[in-house]
Amino acid sequence: MDKWDERFCQLAKFVSKWSKDHARVGAVLVSRRGGDVTIGYNGFPMGVQDLDERLKDKDKKLAMVVHAEVNAIVAAGLRAQESTLYVWGKPICSRCAGPIIQAGVRRVVAKEPASETSEEWRKSGFLALEMFQEAGIIVHFYEGTPEFIPEIPWVRHEPEFIPEIPWAQP
Ligand SMILES: [Zn+2]
Repeated sequence: MDKWDERFCQLAKFVSKWSKDHARVGAVLVSRRGGDVTIGYNGFPMGVQDLDERLKDKDKKLAMVVHAEVNAIVAAGLRAQESTLYVWGKPICSRCAGPIIQAGVRRVVAKEPASETSEEWRKSGFLALEMFQEAGIIVHFYEGTPEFIPEIPWVRHEPEFIPEIPWAQP
């Protein structure tokens, strides 16, 4: 994690507060060269109403909601290729892992599934990791327990993260 990783994680955290869901998740997708930043948070699709009745019915909500990661990817379009995706609030779920892989995201910085308190999310998070590993996506965790998955080499890779972006200069 370098300075820019921390900044984009902070930005994802900020964006997560815009969500109306009680589980607030924010995503920031940074294009390969660093110039384009696209954001997303979890919520219903545009035009679909945030009715209390929907937000409070868990099954209905889950069936309708678009996760922060997918919102950021859809907004980024082709700029998602070779990008880095920062997700704050929840581990990336297996439902989002598919679109993330298909969009060509190269690296994700996210919450470690082991640190997640909900059993369901944790399971989905581990499944997402399995998918990322097979698809060759670099994964970094911004928090968590180092004793988890020491045997998976890809979590120990040093970030090769865009030191040369022009607007990154102080
Ligand atoms: Zn998800």
